[in-house]
Amino acid sequence: MEEIITRFPPSPTGYLHVGGARTALFNWLYARHTKGRFVLRIEDTDVQRSTQESTDAIFEALEWLGIDWDEGPYFQSQRFPIYEEYAQKLLDSGHAYYCSCSSEDLETMRKKAMETGGKPKYDGTCRDKRLSKGDNTVIRFKAPLMGTTVLEDIIKGNIVFQNSELDDFIIQRSDSTPTYNFVVVIDDITMGINTVIRGDDHVNNTPRQILLYKALESPLPAFGHVPMVLGNDRSRLSKRHGATSVTAYRDMGYLPDALINYLVRLGWSFGDQEFFTRDELIEKFSLENIGRAAGIFDQEKLLSLNADHIKATPPRELIPILIPFLKEKGVETGDSDYLESIIKTLNIRSKTLRDMAEDAMFYFQDEIVYDEKAAKKFLSPSALGPVRELIKQLEQLDQFGEKDLEDAFKKVMEITELKLGKIAQPVRVALTGKTASPGIFEIIEVLEKERVMSRLEKAVQFIMDKEQKKS
Ligand code: GLU
Repeated sequence: MEEIITRFPPSPTGYLHVGGARTALFNWLYARHTKGRFVLRIEDTDVQRSTQESTDAIFEALEWLGIDWDEGPYFQSQRFPIYEEYAQKLLDSGHAYYCSCSSEDLETMRKKAMETGGKPKYDGTCRDKRLSKGDNTVIRFKAPLMGTTVLEDIIKGNIVFQNSELDDFIIQRSDSTPTYNFVVVIDDITMGINTVIRGDDHVNNTPRQILLYKALESPLPAFGHVPMVLGNDRSRLSKRHGATSVTAYRDMGYLPDALINYLVRLGWSFGDQEFFTRDELIEKFSLENIGRAAGIFDQEKLLSLNADHIKATPPRELIPILIPFLKEKGVETGDSDYLESIIKTLNIRSKTLRDMAEDAMFYFQDEIVYDEKAAKKFLSPSALGPVRELIKQLEQLDQFGEKDLEDAFKKVMEITELKLGKIAQPVRVALTGKTASPGIFEIIEVLEKERVMSRLEKAVQFIMDKEQKKS
């Protein structure tokens, strides 16, 4: 089989949107699955709207997602001589011509067409005039006047366009800049692209592009137009529905593999499997299983998939991703063993890395800040006995293994004749400041003796001070 060559050609007019990322993923996965090639091209011919900032933001988002490219990035703005050459080819072969119609002429044409109930389109005034290049001439493509153009879409099936509806569109403006449909085709031809997967908002451009391929006697690529990503109200996904930029999800503490998994599943399926690792996606991805229905972006589903990916990631691998979130909260630590043991207690509970950093704060505080309600309820005089007894038991331990801790708590239960819950809750508040946390033995093991003892002592002091104030 011929090597599959796909591409992702973003226009750098803003950040990378999750919808665009999904298109990139489909192309990337198909190239990786078939051991083909994936080309990155920046479509920056619209100089007014294209910015370096957006280009950088797109690279940053692709890199974070782990979408790597084999060729490029190409920049359309650096390829003008190539477009010029191809425009000349079309002129030479009689598939294009210079047109000198002014904007007033075009306006008159438009009005006339409207009056007679026709579609406003170029009427072919200059089509056979054989004009040469002039100050204000554009180059138009000489489109067939009759017949049909068929788009054999891998996803949508055949779509038939009447050529009479496609007019002689401009391929080069009077200032010599090439137009969108033209450059896309020249790029795809010269880059050897044989598979084009893109959003179905481009379907109407495709017949014009197909005509250009034919005029240039180039083989057509396989086209697949994927339905748009919609919000929960079925309108096109936009900021109103929540974050739409890829890097916003990074900043909220999502894992790239979770976002990738979610976006791919939002338009492609493999039975009813929901969770995929990156390698599994590469292994199982196929164009046949891209669906025809629009995907509805569901934040809750993405969040729960993120939790699943956090659970499935080896804790050590989460360390470098968690560190920036801890830094944001003022925690500076390079102790990866401590971090790993912390993550092991939180990875089954945290839905995002941001949550994890928040939930991990008590591990780093020198002075535990008690939640007011928790302290009122659990750091009360009745807790003094068991907490003191626990201090006594723990003091005798050199090691804080799970078994040692269990035994220590058992002894406290025996001596105080209290149930575990009655002992564990005040201890939890003493150690974490809160009433909800990972398992009490786990926390003690991770915090280790010195921190545990000082926190328990501090709680005893806190209760006594409170009592004293009362009397
Ligand atoms: N630059 C276009 C866009 O960002 C891509 C069009 C294409 O895939 O052909 O929508």
